[in-house]
Amino acid sequence: MTKLTHQPICPKCGYDQSGIIDSWVDSCPINGSCAECGLGFAWRDVFDPVRNDLHWYAEHTQSLWGIIARTPGTLMRLVLPWYYWRSVGVEARISLRALAMWLIVLAIGLHLLMSIPYGIGAWHDQSRYYGSLSNLYQNAGIKGLIQPLIEGIGWPFVGARVDFIGSSLRLYFPITNARIARSAFTPLFPLFGMTLVWALIMLVLPTTRRRAKIRAAHVYRAALISVFTLVLVFEMHRLTLGLDLWTATPPMISNTWARRFGGVVIPLLGLWVLLFWGSAVIVGWRVRPCGLLIVLGSIASLIGSVSVFFVLSTIIGWL
Ligand SMILES: [Zn+2]
Repeated sequence: MTKLTHQPICPKCGYDQSGIIDSWVDSCPINGSCAECGLGFAWRDVFDPVRNDLHWYAEHTQSLWGIIARTPGTLMRLVLPWYYWRSVGVEARISLRALAMWLIVLAIGLHLLMSIPYGIGAWHDQSRYYGSLSNLYQNAGIKGLIQPLIEGIGWPFVGARVDFIGSSLRLYFPITNARIARSAFTPLFPLFGMTLVWALIMLVLPTTRRRAKIRAAHVYRAALISVFTLVLVFEMHRLTLGLDLWTATPPMISNTWARRFGGVVIPLLGLWVLLFWGSAVIVGWRVRPCGLLIVLGSIASLIGSVSVFFVLSTIIGWL
């Protein structure tokens, strides 16, 4: 038999299968099952996990273009988490590196996309001081035209002000303003708490780990995807800010969109996180029995969400 390039492990629990393979003397079986968790598999899938890669899934590609091309298909399936987990079971090869890269690409793409509505909104607000774009150009040259660009892309980290007198461009950092930092990051806390608690339940509690019999990488995979909700909340906050600035009639400040965001979007994403982890346990990892784990996990993650929100909001409040 040819030497294996990687260690043959059970895709679900990670149990090393080399012992069983070494015991084969003159024939190799086609199918087998894991002595540790009981998962049935075809041996060729254990030897060559890439065989079953999903053609639509961003985690199963190495190239940047592949990640971009597979993003719509991946996101579409994630809308209904049980649909996603039905395809991405324990057998699907795990590549946390590809998943992390996908998350970064998604964050950058979404950020650039949301820079358009936020940039337009910010300009709508600031054109009071600068007049028109051509006025900005006449007074400060090309540096003047960079200002709306920096505002759109940079918020809440970096912004720019143009000084007509010295025709200079000056950078400032909104994030150092405690009120702005709070409004940008506080909406992330409850969703972060939910993901954190679910991941800890699956990774740290010895009873759940023993019962679930899944290797840690499965939990990391779920946690990384769950983190996407944080990116979404952060960028939707920018979108609603932009829309509010856009639709405002100065000096009136409207917060119509910000209110919808806080009251509708965040609770909906919270519900999604619960469904996502619940589906992971039932459909993806096929933990049995799973009723108690799901009930306790969901309750704990809701409590975690509130606690993390209060703790982090307090800490950020001190700044
Ligand atoms: Zn196993």
